[in-house]
Amino acid sequence: MTDLPDIAAVSAPLPWQAGDWSRLNEQLASGQLPHALLLTGTRHTGKSRLALALARLLLCAQPAAGLNCGKCHACQLSASGSHGDFQWLEPEGKSRVIKIDQVRKVVEFSNRTAGFGLRKVVVLSPAEDMTINAANALLKVLEEPPANSYFILVCHRLHGLPATVRSRCQILRLATPAPEQSLAWLDSSSGSRKDSERLLLLAGGRPLLAERLNGQEQADRLQLAQRAMAGLFSGKTGVSALAVALAEADLEDALVQLADGILSLLRGLSAERLATAQARAAFALVDEIGGIRRAISGGSNPNAQLMLESLLAKVQRVLGDGGLGGNIAVGQGGT
Ligand SMILES: [Zn+2]
Repeated sequence: MTDLPDIAAVSAPLPWQAGDWSRLNEQLASGQLPHALLLTGTRHTGKSRLALALARLLLCAQPAAGLNCGKCHACQLSASGSHGDFQWLEPEGKSRVIKIDQVRKVVEFSNRTAGFGLRKVVVLSPAEDMTINAANALLKVLEEPPANSYFILVCHRLHGLPATVRSRCQILRLATPAPEQSLAWLDSSSGSRKDSERLLLLAGGRPLLAERLNGQEQADRLQLAQRAMAGLFSGKTGVSALAVALAEADLEDALVQLADGILSLLRGLSAERLATAQARAAFALVDEIGGIRRAISGGSNPNAQLMLESLLAKVQRVLGDGGLGGNIAVGQGGT
């Protein structure tokens, strides 16, 4: 469970998920909870936390106040990751995909009788990282889920999943929290509103990324990228420092950061300079980055390294002469 913090006794949803959570509880109480649920929404806003809270609620022997109790034997086992009726699937090792063998194992698992006699729960995260064969293997079990088995798919890019899989799931679109909600939540880990604001800005408005950045080297990397962009846009440095800073990032994060940086540069310009051909070319670059992101979420799987290199070469051609200045503050755009 790489994206999750150490598991506390009770797994609660995040504050901005309260409405979705009470609806899930109502569905559960009335026997209407779907056996295949697809949680989707912006990256780093807490979808996996909600999946964990729901999985542990489903396994708990004595839920209290709509949450898992944290005290029963099932809760102790689900906290340590050793509950026999609970499987959490994600890409293993260095592979970036969920393989068919992993899915076959959980299909077999879901067909067995629950060891505790209650329910079996499988979480797949991120579900769009399944190979096509893995998705096909899962499809069969989603068509006729075994009794008392629940599949919770966590998905950043809805259209990265085959339509056949989507159509078998009830889709729950989780909202992106408002800045004020994110800041209030971040305050307890950052220690001050000022630090919360800095982290949230750096994370492009995504609170769970902001939390991870708190005191971590990823914050340094984002700051390096920010400085490299300022250097490039002011014509002082070439593109290589920026390439290095972005190469470590996930392609989607790198694209968001690049678009944020260019938009931030453009926001600082006077109306007169916004009318120049160079500024228009910069806007076109932002559109192009948006197009690439849509293509990725549409399921195309580009070669990340090549794509980023060609994009950066274009950024250098358009903005590398320093004509628009280097006045940027990355992270304001958000997603
Ligand atoms: Zn319990």
